[in-house]
Amino acid sequence: MSHFVIVGGGLAAASAAETLRAEGFAGEMTVVTRERHAPYQRPPLSKGYLAGNEGLDEVIVHPAQWYAEQGIELRTSTTATHLDPEAHTVTLRGEGGGEGREGSDGSGGSGGDGERLRYDKLLLATGAVSRTLPIEGAELAGVHTLRTLDDADALRRELGGGGRSLVLIGSGWIGMEVGATARGLGNAVAILEREAVPLAAAVGPEMGAMFQRLHEANGVDLRTRVNVERIVGRDGRVTGVVVDGETVPADVVLIGVGAVPAMELARDAQLAEGNGILVDASLRTSAPDVFAAGDVASAFHPVIARHQRSEHWANALNAGPVAARSMLDLPARFAQIPYFYTDQFDLGMELSGYPSLMAEAQLVIRGDVQKREFIAFWVDHGRVVGGMNVNVWDVNEQVQELISSGEVVDLAALRDPSTPLERLLAR
Ligand SMILES: Cc1cc2nc3c(=O)[nH]c(=O)nc-3n(C[C@H](O)[C@H](O)[C@H](O)COP(=O)(O)OP(=O)(O)OC[C@H]3O[C@@H](n4cnc5c(N)ncnc54)[C@H](O)[C@@H]3O)c2cc1C
Repeated sequence: MSHFVIVGGGLAAASAAETLRAEGFAGEMTVVTRERHAPYQRPPLSKGYLAGNEGLDEVIVHPAQWYAEQGIELRTSTTATHLDPEAHTVTLRGEGGGEGREGSDGSGGSGGDGERLRYDKLLLATGAVSRTLPIEGAELAGVHTLRTLDDADALRRELGGGGRSLVLIGSGWIGMEVGATARGLGNAVAILEREAVPLAAAVGPEMGAMFQRLHEANGVDLRTRVNVERIVGRDGRVTGVVVDGETVPADVVLIGVGAVPAMELARDAQLAEGNGILVDASLRTSAPDVFAAGDVASAFHPVIARHQRSEHWANALNAGPVAARSMLDLPARFAQIPYFYTDQFDLGMELSGYPSLMAEAQLVIRGDVQKREFIAFWVDHGRVVGGMNVNVWDVNEQVQELISSGEVVDLAALRDPSTPLERLLAR
């Protein structure tokens, strides 16, 4: 019987496992995650779950029981430590260290090094980990990063009761979302950013400034163009962050300076890499029978004809099933337009588009930025390459159609909210 192994505990792993069974794969399946929870999705960790409005049910994709019902062996608290694509084996280490258990095919473990599992097909859905900041004081109690459920629980214990001073280092999506959630919980929030504008790398300076105004209007002390020097504390606990010689008081600090793909296994197996594991449009890696999906994969996109790595929920949700079909030798091609969403204070937004094309594009606004009710389009030589709807709903499909059509659009009509978006598409 075929044995498929999925390494990962996020949405890409869960959605791949689900698709494998839905497509009729009746062989053995093992999902290996180093976390103690069944695979889960992360967006609520900086929003509803952190705020205490959403529970584990909204976070965990399928409860452990679902895996048992589907005949899937779920190995939590287990790290895959070594991948040998030639032998088709992956070595596992349980939380308490390796025990040299027998491999499931009876091939034998590898002594004290841990169990060796033989696979026919393997999916790497190892995601990403928080980037660390090598500064003095980062090890103090009260200094956090946010990637896992356990990280979110720790942060929730600190901020849930309100009345604390939170300093966020970095104004990326995680910093901005946690800032908004923490304010909502009644904490004082300062955000420290090295660049001139928050989120500029993701949405450009003009839209970044819109997010900055939103935070300032909600009482966040957002400081840009600052240089964080060190984190200071007393008796092992954080008390502040020194920025350009001034100490910003802090009961709690969150370092939110991005994420890096979890590449250990891929590197161990010498898979081709380039800002993530390089995969083709069917999500195959350079090694036979090894696939990769989600945050860790840099996938060749057939429309823009280059590799891109997306650290987005929808990417994990949709790439997992494509990888699953590819593992089953079914037609599979990952050609999604990157999609992202965020909720901060009273602002909800969806963003679709190709970041590499948006960077050079012209911004065209439809609606009222001051009222925070608009759609921003990124237009390159008359073609829409990105679109962000802010507090305007049920337009994402049309925005995506405009992007995928590749058609030159009438900019005056694009700007004009009274012209239906459908009319911009020549059908
Ligand atoms: C706090 C937070 C908020 C977010 N909010 C949004 C949002 O609003 N909108 C949006 O679009 N995206 C958001 N994202 C991004 C989104 O959650 C990620 O794109 C998504 O989680 C990627 O899923 P994944 O399955 O590829 O990887 P991950 O979710 O990172 O899962 C990878 C899993 O693999 C496990 N693993 C890694 N290596 C090994 C190994 N060797 N052995 C065993 N297990 C291993 C990890 O422990 C982890 O559980 C957010 C992310 C975070 C952290």
